[in-house]
Amino acid sequence: MMFRATVLTLYPDMFPGALGLSLAGRALEAGTWVLEAVQIRDFATDRHRTVDDTPAGGGAGMVMRADVLARAIDHASPEGDPRPRLLMSPRGKPLTQERVRELAAGPGAVILCGRFEGVDQRVIEARGLEEVSIGDFILSGGEPAALVLLDAVVRLLPGVMGNEASGDEESFENGLLEHPHYTRPQEWESRSIPEVLTSGNHKKIAAWRRAEAERLTAERRPDLLAQPPKRAT
Ligand code: SAH
Repeated sequence: MMFRATVLTLYPDMFPGALGLSLAGRALEAGTWVLEAVQIRDFATDRHRTVDDTPAGGGAGMVMRADVLARAIDHASPEGDPRPRLLMSPRGKPLTQERVRELAAGPGAVILCGRFEGVDQRVIEARGLEEVSIGDFILSGGEPAALVLLDAVVRLLPGVMGNEASGDEESFENGLLEHPHYTRPQEWESRSIPEVLTSGNHKKIAAWRRAEAERLTAERRPDLLAQPPKRAT
């Protein structure tokens, strides 16, 4: 089963962008996943190919039209398409590694990128869009958020990370931030690598890493410790 991503956007040239390089880019070339960028404007029907209009009730900015977006969605994701339909949105549920894993295990995603003030609420409801946020800040458009989401998903697809572990020890995978890393040279600017890491004692090393992960998490993200771990550790 191949992961198929369809991105609905006013800026299809932003794709694959960074996802055309490195791990994701090689996987794209290898056919491990497919990325299709659909120009929303192609689904406008008036002479000026209008995709937005002024907000009902007044106020600043413009709102993306429900009818145009629905045509784009119905074209990209006809009835029976098993893929979830996501809307990148600062109002959405914050993206987590857990949701990323679920998406990576599925058939793909249809991703709508907002622009302007956002999209007409009716299309969100009528097409069952799942709003997803990448953090508590405002981007100028959903495209960078879609790139972030896809980057996180694609690296988990089978074969993409190659020799690296499946990411099981990574931050968030066990409900903790990751331990610090070191590599040669052994001494740099009078700073040495912690002795335990060069001891060759794998049990001690594992214990040190676990303790460091717990210390960092308590210090920086106590909210993570308050939650039950998402996966067995
Ligand atoms: N007026 C909106 C922000 C619009 S920003 C509000 O206050 O909620 C324009 C578009 O950028 C949004 O429609 C969304 O698609 C995208 N976007 C902005 N910030 C985002 C975030 N943190 N996560 C995901 N998408 C975001």
